[in-house]
Amino acid sequence: MPQAKAYAANSQTSPLAPTSIPRRDPTERDVEIQILFCGICHSDLHAVRNEWSEFTPTVYPIVPGHEIVGRVTNVGSNVTKFKAGDLVGVGCMVAADLTCNECREDYEQFCPNRILTYNSPDEHLGGVTYGGYSEYVVVDEHFVLRIPSNLDLAGTAPLLCAGITTYSPLRHWGVTKGKKVGIVGLGGLGHMGVKLAHAMGAHVAVFSTSPEKKEDALRLGADEAIMSRNTEEMEKHAGTFDFILDTVSAQHDINSYLALLARDGNLTLVGAPPEPLGVAAFSLIGGRHSLSGSAIGGIRQTQEMLDFCGEHNLTADVEVIPIQKINEAYERLAKSDVKYRFSIEMASLEAD
Ligand SMILES: [Zn+2]
Ligand SMILES: [Zn+2]
Repeated sequence: MPQAKAYAANSQTSPLAPTSIPRRDPTERDVEIQILFCGICHSDLHAVRNEWSEFTPTVYPIVPGHEIVGRVTNVGSNVTKFKAGDLVGVGCMVAADLTCNECREDYEQFCPNRILTYNSPDEHLGGVTYGGYSEYVVVDEHFVLRIPSNLDLAGTAPLLCAGITTYSPLRHWGVTKGKKVGIVGLGGLGHMGVKLAHAMGAHVAVFSTSPEKKEDALRLGADEAIMSRNTEEMEKHAGTFDFILDTVSAQHDINSYLALLARDGNLTLVGAPPEPLGVAAFSLIGGRHSLSGSAIGGIRQTQEMLDFCGEHNLTADVEVIPIQKINEAYERLAKSDVKYRFSIEMASLEAD
């Protein structure tokens, strides 16, 4: 069995450390990809520490990473979309049944049989799938994306999760020129929300609890920053937002944001606070407001997002690190001490 160098955690309290993992030989539908960069998503940290055990318990060892950018090294005999040398990406999913109603409508992310890039049952090798903190990966061509050639690769990796997670609800809720859009939280997801909504032509406001973030918000493309703890400032915007994207994954008062929606305005959650959020019925009834959630996006829309980013020369703001700094990066990520995403340069694996 071919082996790939990788970084894995052996328990919820172990640091990530060098190891080697099995990878299958490409089947006729598979693309083999040398990984160049892999973004660090907050989900990686949750999974390594088994913090979502009620929802998806972590199987150890775990190799995280679902923001993968790389170069094709080999393709199976029936692969038509890719050839050796192509720049490609892989996001949160590596398989689905492709026959159910969700798959047929390009919503593979909602397929009951979809397989995630890591910590999901591996139908080829048994055990679980291993993610992008590794030398190479073998993926069904349906789940491989084309990367526009003008984009910076380190900053492109986070588009595969943070990018599509924010792009999909912005598109679904009709964000376009002339719409007023709010972004709650300016982290890995929020900063992509600002860039994408701005590129779609919307008027973008960032909600923040810290005045220091204002300058950054404007630099990223926001038209204004609203201090969410300043009641007077918040009230000035009551009933004016067409759409609000809430990226916060901690407890917060959602009613104060729902109150800012215009008639038929929508607030979509993409952060996942561990505790239920308290929603007052009157926050929704008044202006026929709606509250939704959203999860990544289908493969077709992920390609559309990458092409959109190519047209607008838009990537994530990243801090590039060698894989040997992964545990330090996790400590910093837990404290939100990164602007705005870590991207691992995978060539550093050779040093181990
Ligand atoms: Zn992610
Ligand atoms: Zn399906």
